[in-house]
Amino acid sequence: MPSLRWAAALVSLLLAACTHTSTQRPPGPLRIVATTSTLASIARGAAGAAADVRSLVPVGVSPEDFQPSPDAIAALRNADVLVENGAGLEGWLEATIRNAGNPHLRVVTCTAGLPVRDGNPHLWMDPVYARAYVAKIRDALVAADAVQAPGYRAAASAYDAQLAALTARTARKIATIPAGRRTMIVFHNAFDYYARRFGLQIVGAIEPTPGAEPNPAHIAELVGLARNRHVGAVFAEHEYSDKLARSLAQSAGGLKVAFLYDDSLGSEPAVSTYVGMIDVDTDTIVSALR
Ligand SMILES: [Zn+2]
Repeated sequence: MPSLRWAAALVSLLLAACTHTSTQRPPGPLRIVATTSTLASIARGAAGAAADVRSLVPVGVSPEDFQPSPDAIAALRNADVLVENGAGLEGWLEATIRNAGNPHLRVVTCTAGLPVRDGNPHLWMDPVYARAYVAKIRDALVAADAVQAPGYRAAASAYDAQLAALTARTARKIATIPAGRRTMIVFHNAFDYYARRFGLQIVGAIEPTPGAEPNPAHIAELVGLARNRHVGAVFAEHEYSDKLARSLAQSAGGLKVAFLYDDSLGSEPAVSTYVGMIDVDTDTIVSALR
């Protein structure tokens, strides 16, 4: 019965094909999901321009206040690689990963092994640490898709050179601020690593605990610090109301108020990448303090 034998052979061939494809990832670029728009930009740099990268937290939303939508769960269900910051930035992520139920998801925790200070997760704001993030992301991409490994290595290396140039450029710009005027009050603790790297003094934060409204005694204390420490400007953030920053600046003797980006990129083209965001922030700080 040649036709039966044929059919049996065909069935076993199909079964072999099925088991084969189930252990291999489907063709096409890796699906990379980053938690924030800032991390998505860093991941895009590491993966190359053609990469498929999206972020869970939309532009203009803080990762500290984010409520994951069913969309976020679906994105993780279909992703190959998840890029998270870690160090407590994404408190909602563990449940989202669990709900996505994706056993193939490869998670890159960018701050793993880096010196997290006082539980502050904003290490990416220092471009030297952003370069460490790039190396971790590159290694995960190479492990997830060996065929494309040379492309990922080349992209990550080119982007690392851009971040090295960004670091040098930022240091040069900050050096133009007179030494006695490098003091600032910020909205939340996003600039601690940046300030340490480039020699700025952060005297205080309007919102000492992200997402928690400060009490009037705290604002009064900041007014005193602003006067005693000769703070040059108060920095608000685009995602938040500038009401407290303005009243603080006024009470401290009419200080300048300027706006910075950190947890989220902006919607304008100049701040739509990580490198652009750091450049714009640096120019804002220099012109407010100089
Ligand atoms: Zn933050």
